[in-house]
Amino acid sequence: MAFLDNIRLKLSIRYINKNKKISDKEKKEQIKNIKKLIDEKDYEKRMSMLHDMTCDYLDKIFIEQNACGFKNNICVRRRDMMERGIKKPSYEDGCCHGYKEGKNCHYLGDHGCTIRNVACKLYTCPYLKKRGIKYSINKIYCTRYMLNWSQKVYLMSTFFIPKNEVLPGLIRKRYHV
Ligand code: SF4
Ligand code: SF4
Repeated sequence: MAFLDNIRLKLSIRYINKNKKISDKEKKEQIKNIKKLIDEKDYEKRMSMLHDMTCDYLDKIFIEQNACGFKNNICVRRRDMMERGIKKPSYEDGCCHGYKEGKNCHYLGDHGCTIRNVACKLYTCPYLKKRGIKYSINKIYCTRYMLNWSQKVYLMSTFFIPKNEVLPGLIRKRYHV
């Protein structure tokens, strides 16, 4: 139960230790995914599959690494703020709670993120980055090999947007370089 509490926030986000090597098993799985994508001739369906695969992959890594280290819905960075006496109106909900806006992202539901967003999942805050935890879209084979530069930049920058709204842009950028 405690583990579930810790990942309650977003069975979404991110995180891969940049120093961690991808195992052979992992590589095989990622190559299998690329084959599936190539076999899908309908480009819209292919992009939809790619989006899901990327989210699934990042979710898996998030669960394995638990880099945000949620405890009682407070992440490791915000626990650090508390320990250092940095006063905030709330420490809960990690970066799904925006201090600038003073509220939670409207996609945050009772059981975590209610959409699947690749940019959010890839993001790591400065606290984690300082500790070597960050991720690159080029470390996921399906995004590395199946998207062009313009699509990658787009996917990494479309935060807080549901899949059905992200996909048309991804498809439009098919021939951009
Ligand atoms: S602030 Fe950092 S540690 Fe907290 S949820 Fe966001 S990325 Fe994770
Ligand atoms: S879309 Fe909102 S709720 Fe979902 S991970 Fe991003 S910030 Fe959090």
